[in-house]
Amino acid sequence: MNTFNFDISSKVISLFEECEDSLQEKFKELDKMCLNRSFKVLNAFSKYQISESHFNSTTGYGYGDVGRDTIEKVFADVLGSEDALVRGQFISGTHALTVTLFALLRPGDLLLSITGKPYDTLDEVIGIVDNSSSLKSFGVNYSQIDLVNDDFDYEQIKSYLENNEVKVVEIQRSKGYSTRKSISIQKVQKVVKMIKEIRPTAIVMVDNCYCEFVSDLEPTEVGCDIMVGSLIKNLGGGIAPNGAYVAGRSDLINLVGERLTVPGEGREVGPTLGINKSFLQGLFFAPSVVCNSLKLAILTSKVMEKLGYEVEPKWNDERVDIVQNIIFGKKEALIKYCQGIQMASPIDSNCIPEAWDMPGYQDKVIMAAGTFTQGSSIELSCDGPIREPYIAYQQGGLTYEMGKIGIMKAVSNLMCK
Ligand SMILES: *Cc1c(COP(=O)(O)O)cnc(C)c1O
Repeated sequence: MNTFNFDISSKVISLFEECEDSLQEKFKELDKMCLNRSFKVLNAFSKYQISESHFNSTTGYGYGDVGRDTIEKVFADVLGSEDALVRGQFISGTHALTVTLFALLRPGDLLLSITGKPYDTLDEVIGIVDNSSSLKSFGVNYSQIDLVNDDFDYEQIKSYLENNEVKVVEIQRSKGYSTRKSISIQKVQKVVKMIKEIRPTAIVMVDNCYCEFVSDLEPTEVGCDIMVGSLIKNLGGGIAPNGAYVAGRSDLINLVGERLTVPGEGREVGPTLGINKSFLQGLFFAPSVVCNSLKLAILTSKVMEKLGYEVEPKWNDERVDIVQNIIFGKKEALIKYCQGIQMASPIDSNCIPEAWDMPGYQDKVIMAAGTFTQGSSIELSCDGPIREPYIAYQQGGLTYEMGKIGIMKAVSNLMCK
């Protein structure tokens, strides 16, 4: 095989081929899953009679944007939600989570996280780290209950809910930069049932980032009230250039709309500036791109385990999200691996990533993201905070072959002295 200037040895190539051969059954299961999700998406396109006219967009205030309003119906349908808000005005997943939290919570209200400390970028949003614009600065209280053995602490959640008037319960499914496992849909279903029995008025909000289309059901299909995800992750299919979605109960989605734009104007405004086609095309690609990402994650897990590294999840574990962890234990190894991913990226392959102080994160973070869309992590990307035990968080891959080259290069770079 001609590997051009990528400097990938035949030893590495045969290691990957051998691992790939042993994963064929697993890959077949994923292909089946991908077909199911594809039916779901295409069915929604057909139900809402998507036509070229939906690609038209608005400018200025964005009144009467038929494409935008129909896209929101399509997303709601695909996600099994009553309603959805899908907007390019959301800068990121964190922004959508922030707008949702500020939309649901009022001064004096109580927010409870039942998956321990939320994602790093929410520290200053909640006020875990001081910020004069945090929820805390508005008088919103916060409490958290840690997971035990990677599952909910049912007993503690029960007694906390019995004794405290909790307004919003937050569940973060994907692990973020923590060392825990991600939370399966079955676990979400079980805990939501318990929460609703004790305190039916509590709003259960899910950070669903990286989890869409991985399991058969989404959180709002198992009793959660509202969920949030980024469009430069799973549902954007690598095509959406920015944006995020919030899906769930209509009354709550309307509150989020009022908060995103202006009270009194809410969802009626928001120009789409030419983005509609990308959102639809992204959703169209999403089942396949998520499937490729899962195949690449499983391949990585198998290869790295074979090379003696600790991995999470293992190749045959049930997957909850598209993230693959490699626990390097050594800073240099994490950096070399990430740099290898960058070297075989389509964009900025000549750049060598270094750990830097990213806004919103407390530790330095190294980030290999040679992506078409800045910060897109549905494209093959690999990052990790520079702290023990030096875990790489790898995810994405628009095509299986391109992703495989990236990972082969990362392994080669790791091996070279
Ligand atoms: C990616 C992610 C977010 C949002 O991150 P952004 O970079 O702001 O889009 C939030 N929570 C989790 C668990 C994530 O993985």
